[in-house]
Amino acid sequence: WSKRDFPWTKKLEANNKKVFGNHSFRPNQREVINATMSRHDVFVLMPTGGGKSLTYQLPALISPGVTIVISPLVSLIQDQIMHLLQANISAAYLSANMEWTEQQEILRELCSGRCRYKLLYVTPEKVAKSDTLLRQLENLYARELLDRIVIDEAHCVSQWGHDFRPDYQSLGILKQKFPKIPVLALTATATASVKEDVVQALGLVDCIIFRQSFNRPNLRYSVIPKTKKCVEDIDKFIKDNHFDECGIIYCLSRKDCEKIAEKLQEFGHKAVFYHASMDSDKRATVQKMWSKDEINIMCATVAFGMGINKPDVRFVIHHSLPKSIEGYHQECGRAGRDGQHSSCVLYYSYSDYIRVKHMLSHGLTEQNSNANSGRVLETNTENLLRMVSYCENDVDCRRFLQLIHFGEKFDPVSCRKTCDNCFKAQNLVEKDVTEIATHLVELVKSVQQQFSASHILEVYRGSLSQIVKKYQHNTLRLHGAGKSVVKGEALRVLHHLVVEEILIEDVKRSDYYGCVSSILKVNEKKASNLLAGRQTIVLRFPCAIKASKSSRNDI
Ligand code: ADP
Repeated sequence: WSKRDFPWTKKLEANNKKVFGNHSFRPNQREVINATMSRHDVFVLMPTGGGKSLTYQLPALISPGVTIVISPLVSLIQDQIMHLLQANISAAYLSANMEWTEQQEILRELCSGRCRYKLLYVTPEKVAKSDTLLRQLENLYARELLDRIVIDEAHCVSQWGHDFRPDYQSLGILKQKFPKIPVLALTATATASVKEDVVQALGLVDCIIFRQSFNRPNLRYSVIPKTKKCVEDIDKFIKDNHFDECGIIYCLSRKDCEKIAEKLQEFGHKAVFYHASMDSDKRATVQKMWSKDEINIMCATVAFGMGINKPDVRFVIHHSLPKSIEGYHQECGRAGRDGQHSSCVLYYSYSDYIRVKHMLSHGLTEQNSNANSGRVLETNTENLLRMVSYCENDVDCRRFLQLIHFGEKFDPVSCRKTCDNCFKAQNLVEKDVTEIATHLVELVKSVQQQFSASHILEVYRGSLSQIVKKYQHNTLRLHGAGKSVVKGEALRVLHHLVVEEILIEDVKRSDYYGCVSSILKVNEKKASNLLAGRQTIVLRFPCAIKASKSSRNDI
């Protein structure tokens, strides 16, 4: 597809220079354009900032009819249209919250003899809910003026993805109604299963797939244990490494954003907050201030980010556990667009897992305000557990762990110590923890699967706390069986059991989010081999843990 002798090549190169002001193509741009211009269905995985827009804007410009672009965010669409109009390319958009008369005018133009629009952007809910729009598209199709259908942020189609949007599911109708029209699906994030799901849901035929490495060599990754003084730790990290530079701090809840921004201001930083319940004017104002470097730190929920093009973001900090590796990778990807070194720091505490899980199942996150159940909840939980496993892993290269998730092989040697695990390059020892794991599972059973992980660890390590005595758990056979096991080691085994789904964290009661109690249950099917002595579990630990045998009772 990189050939330069397609019938459109000359026009393509001329317009790339003249209209878009580019001297050359970026990796895969020419290939994608040639494939879609040859009327193939195409799926493109290209990192944020890679230049996806050009792969459909340039074909739209040199084709005779109209290109329909489905894009999820009106603010993003408006930004694109502003740029197109500046380049003298006629474009418009339709969204559900536009004035009716304005919508009518655009629809009328679509069915006029020679529609002047080269690109028409629509939001997915417009396709899902507007019969009038579909009729106009049929009209264009019949007149052979429908050139191409572009699905931006295509990962939103998949229920396996981290950003599933129900309206995207109905986009399959486009291929059914317009089978001859090439579809171009674009995303910056998709695992192999998400890609398969998208291709199937959109009904793409003999689809050509382009993908680029997801590795971002200029980003440095680390996971840091989250303490009660996390904001103080963040303050110190920024002052030591990125003083007065621009960054984003991703927070879990709206309240967190506000509290953290306030505290950072007290520490002398120019910080503001951003979340979905602020009115749109306020959001636009703080975004503009941040973009113009009037303030440098944005404390935000994941509502902030899509379409952010600031090149010199020097750090992305996660104050809480992200919901999936895909989401995490994409959020980190907003740092260092200019290719300069930038930091991605994640403050991790296992208790955030319980909190996020609760928020997901009760629809308390920014992306989803409906209580989730069934397959969606299962997928969310699975994605979250992978993220926990990523954070718990203090051995393997972070790049390797992220990229393998996208089906990309990465040799950790190439990391060149730019992640915390490679940097430590410590001596690791393998340790058989089968006995500890079996004891922990047996203990969960012997307390009738009604107690939390920390309670199980207390009993295992022989605590005689009030609560242990109250339930007479000091009389259990395995009380104190783990007296000589270091707390960190027992905890790591326990988390491994949860990640492997041998134990299940179940939410028991919640007063309000942030205050949730959880209990451990046994997944009988997955635990059967371990309990029958047919499974061994080996984990790798830094030398220090293996050496220090302790009988401290300090849980
Ligand atoms: P994406 O949608 O993949 O995140 P964009 O399409 O927004 O990326 O492009 C990111 C930036 O790169 C834009 O400022 C765009 O003008 C620029 N760009 C795209 N293609 C080229 C190119 N071939 N040469 C130079 N700049 C380009």
